[in-house]
Amino acid sequence: MLEKLDDSARPSRAPHRRVGVSFEFFPPKTAEMEASLWEAIGRLAPLEPSFVSVTYGAGGSTRERTHSTVSRIVRETAIKPAAHLTCVAATREEIDSVVRAYWDAGVRHIVALRGDPTSGIGSAYEARPSGYATSTDLVHGIRRFGDFEVSVSAYPEKHPESASFDADIDALKAKIDAGATRAITQLFFENDVYFRYLDRVRKAGVNIPILPGIVPVQNFKQTAGFARKTGATVFAYHVSDPEQWLAERFEGLDDEPSTRRLIAAAVAAEQALDLMDRGVTDFHFYTMNRADLVYATCHLLGVRAKVGAGT
Ligand code: FAD
Repeated sequence: MLEKLDDSARPSRAPHRRVGVSFEFFPPKTAEMEASLWEAIGRLAPLEPSFVSVTYGAGGSTRERTHSTVSRIVRETAIKPAAHLTCVAATREEIDSVVRAYWDAGVRHIVALRGDPTSGIGSAYEARPSGYATSTDLVHGIRRFGDFEVSVSAYPEKHPESASFDADIDALKAKIDAGATRAITQLFFENDVYFRYLDRVRKAGVNIPILPGIVPVQNFKQTAGFARKTGATVFAYHVSDPEQWLAERFEGLDDEPSTRRLIAAAVAAEQALDLMDRGVTDFHFYTMNRADLVYATCHLLGVRAKVGAGT
């Protein structure tokens, strides 16, 4: 027999709040990848994201491509772009000239990161003597240069190199003291991880927005393989062991793309709606340069395309 449900205990799923979204892209390597990136931007732009960000390849390997992608967004769309920038393998002068080029191109938002060690994740990070030593230094440098909006990273499971959560949160506070006004988290699949982190940082006196970084995953195998190939984006996020429950959801579906897509949509919907039910109003999506799943998830969050907007 069905019991009567207590409706008052159920969160309202009506999209009653203003939900803000932002999207991350990576710079394309080939003409084909460029075409699919622009198709994705064209599809997502009418959702009027607060900003879209473009990653910077490991060791600065995509410096030109990041710049040309961001500049094209400025020239051809009404969306505000944010350019990722790292301290790795460059002198201060070189980084400052990248910052200047962004300013000249009309870009006013930078996602400032330290970057990974050139000898690979897991090895010790060695700052170049003539370069910016930490992300905090980089934030200082950018803010000294001009009136940029600066976003930084945040690690709900702490950065692997941080000795403790307290040390990690102190590092975040240093970035904020240097002028960062927004943090974007490393991707996570367990929402509790994000909320526990939020609790810690708020208790530590951090008041800036901490956008949850969400990656709609089609299946783990594909995402990991793709990440390795791009070499520029996801690998850098130190995705910890995928949750077993998530791996199980995609288990046995390697040769069933249509079911996999349905599951992927369900998983993304579940995560995003739970975040919304628990009070999150701003979401950052790692798009992997594909629009469909992100678009559908935004739709569930109540975000609707405005005709003629964004492009
Ligand atoms: P940081 O905040 O610099 O922290 C790294 C370590 O340094 C931590 O252990 C921290 O405790 C310590 N630390 C920080 N500040 C100080 C300080 N002032 N003094 C002493 N220690 C300090 N990588 C790329 O190559 N390109 C990208 O485009 C890119 N985009 C990213 C976007 C997001 C949202 C995230 C979460 C990560 C991104 N990364 C990117 C990955 C990032 O570069 C790596 O995770 C890198 O190892 C750390 O850089 P960070 O700025 O994220 O961390």
